[in-house]
Amino acid sequence: MENVHIAPVVGPEIDSGYIRIEGDRIVSLGAGPAPEGGGDRIDGTGCLATPGLVNTHHHLYQWASQGLAQDATLFEWLVSLYEVWAAMDAEVVHGAASAGLGWLALSGCTTSSDHHYVFPKGRGDLFAAEIEAAREIGLRFHPARGSMDRGESQGGLPPDVVVEPLEEILTATHEAIRAYHDPSFSSKLRVAVAPCSPFSVSAELMTEAAALARAENVRLHTHLAETLDENEHCVEQFGMRPVDYMEKLGWLGPDVWFAHAVHLSDGDIAKFAATGTGSAHCPSSNGRLGAGIARVSEMLERGANVGLGVDGNASSELTTMAGEMRQALLFQRARYGPTALTARQALEIATLGGARNLGRQEELGSIEPGKLADLALWRVDGAFGSAVADPVCQLVFGTRQPPLARLLVGGETVVEDDELRTVSQDAVGRAGARARDRLLRRAADRGFSAAKEVHS
Ligand SMILES: [Zn+2]
Repeated sequence: MENVHIAPVVGPEIDSGYIRIEGDRIVSLGAGPAPEGGGDRIDGTGCLATPGLVNTHHHLYQWASQGLAQDATLFEWLVSLYEVWAAMDAEVVHGAASAGLGWLALSGCTTSSDHHYVFPKGRGDLFAAEIEAAREIGLRFHPARGSMDRGESQGGLPPDVVVEPLEEILTATHEAIRAYHDPSFSSKLRVAVAPCSPFSVSAELMTEAAALARAENVRLHTHLAETLDENEHCVEQFGMRPVDYMEKLGWLGPDVWFAHAVHLSDGDIAKFAATGTGSAHCPSSNGRLGAGIARVSEMLERGANVGLGVDGNASSELTTMAGEMRQALLFQRARYGPTALTARQALEIATLGGARNLGRQEELGSIEPGKLADLALWRVDGAFGSAVADPVCQLVFGTRQPPLARLLVGGETVVEDDELRTVSQDAVGRAGARARDRLLRRAADRGFSAAKEVHS
């Protein structure tokens, strides 16, 4: 790749330079023309190269349930949707994950996690279905085997129909790790352990899940401190706030990243920084559900790691990874003033911050020799966009992302000129719409109200 403006995230930016790739790795970068030799050359004239964006919180199945419960709080929204999700099967998950991952790739994302926590019985292998979709699209994938064991009858929020028994959860999670987790440097598939949230999971499952993850050397993920309702639930049911509760259960540490972390105290932020606990900031979802604005700039100042997440599309319809940088920047500035988060910091949390959440900071998240060649090449010389003097500003500040000239995952092209190259873009888009039709039809057949709301 040559003649390109490089924003490597680590190290100085280069106005016009080259990135040399061999196999799936970056071997060198620098100013001026590329040295002779090497394989294919990509001309990056008029383009900005950034590390591929890393999405650290998602629920891909939710692609099939967008646009429902539009004006609800988190708890109202969940109660409306749990029973729709109870109707999903492997076909729904495959179609939704294909469209969701295709959408992410088109917005510059090269690595995505997913948090799948609804496993109705007898519907096929839902976890395998999303892994297959990620393989087809060609993204690096970190699926987290989620779970819920505390239904309504146990004081939890979800109806009993969507929870699983604790023993079955642990067995299935262990099997998922054994079947799919690849710890290698170049890995395109790593599994995490992810009970859903304090209000849908027992303390015993949280503790056992942490023990399992640590025995298998995989990472831990859950939702935390998303809303004030959750705070109240934790104080009422456990006698303490969410972060204190997770600390008590052994859930702070460098192998843990939490989704949201909106309602943190100064002490909570200090604990995250001291223990290396990460968080996935999901500003569009937090805005959509009226959850609040996370203290991202304070967390960064105090040394706590922050990555970005689009969150499930049912609470962040059609949100893109590139757009989430802008949303993060605007939220922080609205709360703290215009120096709260710079365009470069927004790019850093979307790349290196995300890589740290996933434990992949040695391999991903910046353009450095030895790292994997996961790169996004943005066309910044378009007729309108080129009016912005700074290409990183153009990428982060604009509502409409610059055209994506190329997306490389491990040196392989996944997107070229805003078009998926690994699969048919039309086909995955249609698969997402079919997944929605199928899910809502199945949910309506079961008599559930949120689906009726859409059909009425
Ligand atoms: Zn979520």
